[in-house]
Amino acid sequence: MNTNKLSQKYINTLCIIFLLFMTSQIFSHETAGSFSSYRIPERAIEFPDTDKYLTIVADLHTHSVFSDGHVWPNIRISEALRDGLDAIAITEHLEYQPHISDIPHKDRNTAYRIAAEAAKNTNLIVISGSEITRENPIGHMNAIFIEDSNKLMNLDKSKIAEADKLVEQRKDEVAVHGGIEMANHLALASLWPVANAVNKANEQGGFVFWNHPAYKVNNGIATLSKEHKEFIKNGTLHGIEVVNENIFSEEALAIALEYNLTIIGTSDVHNLIDWDYLPHQGQHRPVTLIFAEERTKPAIKEALMKGRTVVWYKNLLIGKENNIQPLLNAMMRIDSARYQDNSEILEVIIKNNSDTKIQMTNLSDHSFMSNHDIIEIPAHSAINLDVKTKEQLTSISLEFEILNALVRPKTHPTLILYSNIASD
Ligand SMILES: [Zn+2]
Ligand SMILES: [Zn+2]
Repeated sequence: MNTNKLSQKYINTLCIIFLLFMTSQIFSHETAGSFSSYRIPERAIEFPDTDKYLTIVADLHTHSVFSDGHVWPNIRISEALRDGLDAIAITEHLEYQPHISDIPHKDRNTAYRIAAEAAKNTNLIVISGSEITRENPIGHMNAIFIEDSNKLMNLDKSKIAEADKLVEQRKDEVAVHGGIEMANHLALASLWPVANAVNKANEQGGFVFWNHPAYKVNNGIATLSKEHKEFIKNGTLHGIEVVNENIFSEEALAIALEYNLTIIGTSDVHNLIDWDYLPHQGQHRPVTLIFAEERTKPAIKEALMKGRTVVWYKNLLIGKENNIQPLLNAMMRIDSARYQDNSEILEVIIKNNSDTKIQMTNLSDHSFMSNHDIIEIPAHSAINLDVKTKEQLTSISLEFEILNALVRPKTHPTLILYSNIASD
């Protein structure tokens, strides 16, 4: 072997070692879609199933970098698993694309595809969706359970001159909000009639709801535009956000009841759930509890179309009477009722089997030994109530007004707890 051959062999060996080293470096980091998925029991959102339905915990409005969010879609999945959600929708703005220069993506289904892939080996249900984005008074609408987001958007080239004019009028805003490419796209896409987008969503069997109707532009008062009324009349708008992020709208609740729209509450998260909603401090994102026959997408959609929801926001439950009652019945019960020795003082244990701290006031004629009429039962806890019944009864019926639940603006539901009394 001559010296040349020897040095060639040496170089080859070095190359192989270098390649092995590089490969190990590349794969020593996780892939872009991976995440830590451990469930954190103390932050998992838990409500019991009702008599008739499964209670599905869902966040139907979230964002990622594929519109104006600040995380990759797999992080939304990771957060949802930590929060114990059953279902999540990633709903990117179709038209408002501030990252369009850095993250160009012709296919508006991309965020959903990445999220669904990330959730593949979990039991989290990922729902497709998009946010249709227009100026007020129409504002924003989410279309979920759609087959192809691309069909909900159209860039009509014949309107480029009109779009340019809009961008020119707003050039100061454009400089602050993400540059010319974003502004051109937004202006042109927004010129496509919103009714077309809503119709396309409906053609695909989508569930459509009006987002954050109470933004500050209307002094926080949700007001239906003539377009919304038209959509409601022809059955193409199905729900309304009564809660969005940190805003609860009584006017939106009144609209939901008057027009029979499904009551929705969402996080509309753009940053991290942990930053915006502090789950490590016992708080939680707003969620929609959906009462579905099965834990499947078709069953969840059917429940939404039929209006079977309750929103959980801060410590408040908001829903139509016929949805809140079965939930309260499932959440609370008399665990035991027995007389102390031979007295007429009935020891009643009431259990709260939910994440909510129940706040309630006594509506029955009975009074209590050690409590005033306003009673609290912490989440997943029981309280002991000594009821003065004046005579020994064989059954007990206690009626309460549930102060941390709403069925109409400023109206709380009532709940009757009934039990037979154990005899010694
Ligand atoms: Zn929005
Ligand atoms: Zn949004």
